[in-house]
Amino acid sequence: MVTGHPAGDDPGDRLRWPGVVVVGAGVTGLLVTEELTRRGVPVLLVEQSRLGAGQTGHCHGYLHRGYIYRGITASRRQALERCADWWARRLAPAGDAVVGTRSVIGFTSDTEREEALAAWKSLDMPWEDVDAPGLAGTAGTFAVPEASVSPRAAMRAVAGTAARVPTLHGRATAVRHSGGSVRSVDVLTGEGTVTVSAPAFVLSAGLGTPGLLGPLARTLGVRTRLTYMLVCRTGQDLPEAFCLPADSAQGLFVASRPAGRERVYLMSTFVNFWASDEDEAARRSWLGAASRVLAHHLPGLWADPATRWGLYPACKVEVDAPDQAGGGLPEGGVFDLGWDNALTVLPGKLVLAPLFAEECLNRLGRLTDLDRLREASPPGGSPAASSPPGPFTTGSGPSSGPSPAPGGSVASPWAAEDWEMTPLFTRAELFDHPTPHHVPAAPHGKDNDRWSA
Ligand SMILES: Cc1cc2nc3c(=O)[nH]c(=O)nc-3n(C[C@H](O)[C@H](O)[C@H](O)COP(=O)(O)OP(=O)(O)OC[C@H]3O[C@@H](n4cnc5c(N)ncnc54)[C@H](O)[C@@H]3O)c2cc1C
Repeated sequence: MVTGHPAGDDPGDRLRWPGVVVVGAGVTGLLVTEELTRRGVPVLLVEQSRLGAGQTGHCHGYLHRGYIYRGITASRRQALERCADWWARRLAPAGDAVVGTRSVIGFTSDTEREEALAAWKSLDMPWEDVDAPGLAGTAGTFAVPEASVSPRAAMRAVAGTAARVPTLHGRATAVRHSGGSVRSVDVLTGEGTVTVSAPAFVLSAGLGTPGLLGPLARTLGVRTRLTYMLVCRTGQDLPEAFCLPADSAQGLFVASRPAGRERVYLMSTFVNFWASDEDEAARRSWLGAASRVLAHHLPGLWADPATRWGLYPACKVEVDAPDQAGGGLPEGGVFDLGWDNALTVLPGKLVLAPLFAEECLNRLGRLTDLDRLREASPPGGSPAASSPPGPFTTGSGPSSGPSPAPGGSVASPWAAEDWEMTPLFTRAELFDHPTPHHVPAAPHGKDNDRWSA
């Protein structure tokens, strides 16, 4: 299924793309696509779900500046600061993307508080002593200038072009290379497998990347871990975003989204598992630990009978690569794996994606003549040109054109955030019976036999 203008000159199951094939349309693939398109390089996006799905769709949306990083160094702080400033600049005109401009950090011991304040002071990181409603059991609460965003609104604001570039809807299943070059990517679509060849590739498939790299992922040190996100809809008065850091057994990390007169809080703890362990036992164990933290630090919320609760599993892929771009940031990087025409990008954090996207484009420019690709516009005109006859259409959405969602509206190419598709329950229903609930299919094309439906 291809939308946009695929412009392959091989019909059927082979597609030769004249520009860059970007596999995965999370924040990384979207930013790379946006910039390549701006430079006039034809991009073919390969995406198994919708734009901004994956980790991007299930994250908190915190724009970290380093406050909750233990052992933050000046270079890490600068890299985070640069990225958070990039987001703030780019999102300023988009009214709905920024949810809050500051967050609250509550310490759970005096020692922890003194250590953190000393580190912030040494790095000129501002803070303000504040009373935080609803938080209990803390040794001091401080407001810090860390913003949080709605990832979907943010993606639309910084990478809206992606909704208009050609998209092959399917799951990349194999990367085929010979010698030092990637030749093609196999993509399993609803109409069979399409082999896509191109002069250059960017692998930005997030959780799908380890599968595409095979044994190379292990060499690189890529790891995937499972955690859960508690979704909590409440009218209780709490800070918009807050964190009880460092004490990992008792920590909570929380961002929110407005929901009418209430707010929806997205809450994670520092408990996580190997990704293969997603089952009822893991959910029970996670919820058990979370319930103790909630009862201790958010007693008003925990006791409130009107508050509603939900849960979705959220995996995260990261890699320790201190020598990659990012001033020694340990969670991601840009990797060429010895290929002369393909790069893999794993940002580790949404906030860092602009940094790694920029590094990816710099390196791609060194590997491949982007000017030559720019001139190689697809047969039939620009990527956004009208569709050729055959199975390909212009614009976003399924191959037969944007499909009507229930209610008659046209389905959005953008993924909903996972919390929006998560069923909510009373506290007892969720915490005492943590089994997946089957709910009707959402109009967003996401899995429905899971917590996040
Ligand atoms: C619970 C949680 C909370 C987080 N909170 C924050 C936070 O507050 N702040 C922050 O900075 N970072 C946060 N992160 C990290 C952040 O979400 C990720 O680092 C970032 O979103 C990764 O973006 P990505 O584009 O690399 O990958 P993804 O967002 O995972 O995108 C990959 C895309 O590729 C697609 N895909 C996957 N496999 C295939 C395939 N085989 N073929 C085709 N398409 C494929 C997916 O559908 C998806 O659209 C959080 C992560 C988690 C898990």
